[in-house]
Amino acid sequence: MKSGIKKIQDEVQAMKDQGLLTEERVITVPQSNHIDTTKMKNVINMCANNYLGLANNPRIIEAAKASYAKWGYGLSSVRFICGTQQVHKDLEKALAKFFGFEDAILYSSCFDANGGLFGSITTAEDAIISDELNHASIIDGVRLSKAKRYRYKNNNMEELENCLKQADADGCKVKVIATDGVFSMDGIIANLKGICDLAEKYDALVMVDDSHASGFVGETGRGTQEYCGVMGRVDILTSTLGKAMGGASGGFTLSKKCVIDYLRQKSRPYLFSNTLAPAMASASLEVLKLLDEDHSRLKTLQENTKFFREGCKKLGLDIIDSVHPIVPIMVYDPLKAIKVSNEMLEKGVYCVAFKYPVVPKGKDRIRVQISAAHSREDLEYALKCFGEMKQKYEF
Ligand SMILES: *Cc1c(COP(=O)(O)O)cnc(C)c1O
Repeated sequence: MKSGIKKIQDEVQAMKDQGLLTEERVITVPQSNHIDTTKMKNVINMCANNYLGLANNPRIIEAAKASYAKWGYGLSSVRFICGTQQVHKDLEKALAKFFGFEDAILYSSCFDANGGLFGSITTAEDAIISDELNHASIIDGVRLSKAKRYRYKNNNMEELENCLKQADADGCKVKVIATDGVFSMDGIIANLKGICDLAEKYDALVMVDDSHASGFVGETGRGTQEYCGVMGRVDILTSTLGKAMGGASGGFTLSKKCVIDYLRQKSRPYLFSNTLAPAMASASLEVLKLLDEDHSRLKTLQENTKFFREGCKKLGLDIIDSVHPIVPIMVYDPLKAIKVSNEMLEKGVYCVAFKYPVVPKGKDRIRVQISAAHSREDLEYALKCFGEMKQKYEF
C-alpha cells in the first residue's frame, strides 16, 4: 500500500476506534416528515432542511416532470457556452423579484455561489470582514480571494466596528462584511440592522448568505433581510435552492445588475462548472409561485417551532434561545451526543449529533430542525423521547 493511503487508513481506523466516525444513514423513500431508513422504518425526521415540507410536494414534482419534456434532461455545458435556456433566465428574474434585488445569477450550489464571489469582487487592496461563525463555504470562498481578512466574534457589533476601523487604517479600498443570515449550528439570526448601520457609516458592502432563511424567515419568507427590517440595504445575498425552496439543489447570488454582470465575467464556478439542471430551474419557479400564493406553510412552521421550543424548556432541556426552526439541544459531550442520537433513532426519531470540529470543542449537541411537515403528534413524541434521554444521560 502506498504510504499516502496507509496514513489515511490509519486515521479512519483511529476515528472508528474512538467511536467518532460519522457514517451515513441510508433513506429508502422520498424526503418527508416520516422516512424509512435501511435500519429503521417510519422514523420522524428531525434533521432535514425541509423547513416548508416542499421536498416531496406534488406540485413541485409535477413541475420537474413537465420540465423534462419541455427542456430535456441536461445541458452538458457551462452557462456561457451553451448552458443557458430561457428557464434559467426566467428563474434568475423571478428570484431577483422575489427577494427584492435587481438581478440574480444561478450556480449549481450555494457552496459555489460563495466560492465564486469573494475572489471575483475583491483584490489584495481590499478587505473582507467575516463573522467567526460563518458557514464553511463563506470561509473557503474568502480563502480564494487575495483580500486582507478580518474576523469578528459572532454578532459582536463592537468588534465589527473595530475591524472596519482597522481595515481603513490598513488602507484597504473596498470593504466587504460577510455574514450568515442564520448561524446554522446555533439557529441564531444575524444582527443585520446593526451590520447595515455600520456598513453605511464606513462605506462597506454587506454580503449575507441566507441559506437557512430563504423562503421561510420573515413575514413573507424573504429571509433575514425581511425579519431584520433591512430590505434594500443588503448589497449581495447568496442562498440555496437545496433547503426550504424545494430542497433539490442549486444556488444563487443576488445584487445590483452591474455586480451580477461582473460575476458572469469573473466567477469561476459559473464559468467552469456545469449549469443547473433545467428541471431544478423549472421546479424552483414553481416554488416561488407557491411561496407567494400561500403563506400557510410558513405559519405552520412558526407555530411548530414555538411549540417545540417551549416544550424543550418545560423539560428543562438546554437549548439556544431564538425563533428559528433550528433547535440545538446542548449535550456538551461528543460520545453522549452520539449515544443519544443512536438511541433516539431506535425510538423512532431521526436526529443527528453535532460534535467537534463541526461545533467548538465541548459544545456538542443534538441539532433538530422543525418543519411545517411535522404534525403535533410528531413533535410531542420527539419531546417525550428527549425528556427520557435527558434523565438517562443527564445533560
Ligand atoms: C447549506 C448551506 C450552504 C450550502 O448550500 P448548497 O446549495 O447545498 O451548496 C451554504 N451556506 C450556508 C449558510 C448553508 O447553510
